[in-house]
Amino acid sequence: MQQKIMLITGASRGIGAAAALLAAEQGYKVAVNYVRNSDAADQVVAKIKEAGGEAFAVLGDVASEADVMRIFETVDRTYGPLTALVNNAGILEQHTRVADMDAARLNRVFATNVIGSFICAREAVRRMSTKQGGKGGAIVNLSSAASRLGSPNEYVDYAASKGAIDTFTIGLAKEVADEGIRVNAVRPGIIYTEIHASGGEPDRVDRMKANVPMKRGGEAIEVARAVMWLLSDEASYTTGSFIDVSGGR
Ligand code: NAP
Repeated sequence: MQQKIMLITGASRGIGAAAALLAAEQGYKVAVNYVRNSDAADQVVAKIKEAGGEAFAVLGDVASEADVMRIFETVDRTYGPLTALVNNAGILEQHTRVADMDAARLNRVFATNVIGSFICAREAVRRMSTKQGGKGGAIVNLSSAASRLGSPNEYVDYAASKGAIDTFTIGLAKEVADEGIRVNAVRPGIIYTEIHASGGEPDRVDRMKANVPMKRGGEAIEVARAVMWLLSDEASYTTGSFIDVSGGR
């Protein structure tokens, strides 16, 4: 049977960490990427190993093309060519209106959320494509319900970067559909992770949950399950598609 090898960007915390743990349970060898928090990445790897799985931590900024090249080369050397990529690393910045956003902020958000996902997907396609000698594979992008909602008065830049991820998912899926690669996205709603602290409001989920039809925030594991389904053979005829994990919002 083909080995299952996965790279998850931003897997030291939050949704990426939950997906890494679940992937290892399902038999994937997991490359746990992080950018700053090596202790957290090491903890994810240790948990996976304690449970009998295989994983290693790999430092690198997805916004840097050189770092992405090095991350993929490290995965190649350690496990061989990947069969699954989760483009999960994403950032948002302090709540601000568009009228007050400067180009430096926009560049940071788009470099990580959009360009990082493109460059990682490019490297994955080069390894997976049956037209380039690969054995196929699957990619899941982390978008957001923000791509539908726009995030007014909070972070329209972040929402627009996720809109770009939606379009990227549709376009890339069609481009590589006959090369053995499926490309899908998950759009989480408001999930309990540390991302909200970087927007300046650690308790944002609890403030917002009354607006969610299910009247609660989501857990990272609930998002991870959708990611893993899209990567699995259960989703063998699903590409260019989206799962909203947002409690009905
Ligand atoms: P989080 O808790 O803030 O964790 C972010 C992860 O990304 C960390 O592992 C961080 O690494 C890593 N990271 C940040 N910038 C990076 C970079 N430039 N290169 C590599 N890794 C980087 O985030 P989360 O809430 O789990 O979000 C994960 C994804 O889901 C994001 O794409 C986010 O936009 C999306 N999402 C989240 C929510 C939500 O409510 N939480 C809702 C919709 C969509 P370090 O630990 O080293 O800093």
